[in-house]
Amino acid sequence: MIHQLVYYSRNTVPGGDRAMLTNMREILSVSQRNNSRDGITGFLIFDKTWFVQVLEGERARVLETYGRIARDTRHSSATIMNECDTQARLFPNWTMGGAMRTPEVQEVYLQHGFGGPLDPVRLKSEQIVSLALDLQAYEVSRRQGQRLAS
Ligand code: FAD
Repeated sequence: MIHQLVYYSRNTVPGGDRAMLTNMREILSVSQRNNSRDGITGFLIFDKTWFVQVLEGERARVLETYGRIARDTRHSSATIMNECDTQARLFPNWTMGGAMRTPEVQEVYLQHGFGGPLDPVRLKSEQIVSLALDLQAYEVSRRQGQRLAS
């Protein structure tokens, strides 16, 4: 069985867009290193206010990773939205994919009915997982397009 945990937290990364992107690259790079070691996959959605993350893998590893993440001072008020056991991973090829809300991905947000700011406090974890899957698909097709163009 694969354990899946979805949480949200308040982004407290200081600085403007550029500083945030630098910090996020650092977070994603450390995440990818640790997660590939621990057999964790998932997806991280973020904007200036929120982080929402899906973690999946062996239960003990997922809980250990979440414990480490929850103590990180670059965000606050980490709140678990849902935990469940599933038959298979939803993000098998991503040791941690990440998508910042930019104008480029706005279309994906609109398809999910998110015209305004994302407010995870009011959302169900299934809505987050569904958005993450489409952001993942968008990113995959973007990368394939880049490969074809080069
Ligand atoms: P190091 O990277 O060596 O860090 C040592 C300590 O310093 C840790 O306590 C770390 O939290 C802290 N630290 C490092 N850099 C900074 C900084 N710039 N500002 C403040 N504190 C800092 N980690 C994962 O392994 N997997 C994930 O999927 C994952 N997702 C994350 C999602 C979010 C939204 C955030 C904010 C962090 C995430 N992290 C994730 C990072 C995690 O919180 C820990 O920082 C990381 O796992 C620690 O890795 P390490 O043990 O190799 O320590």
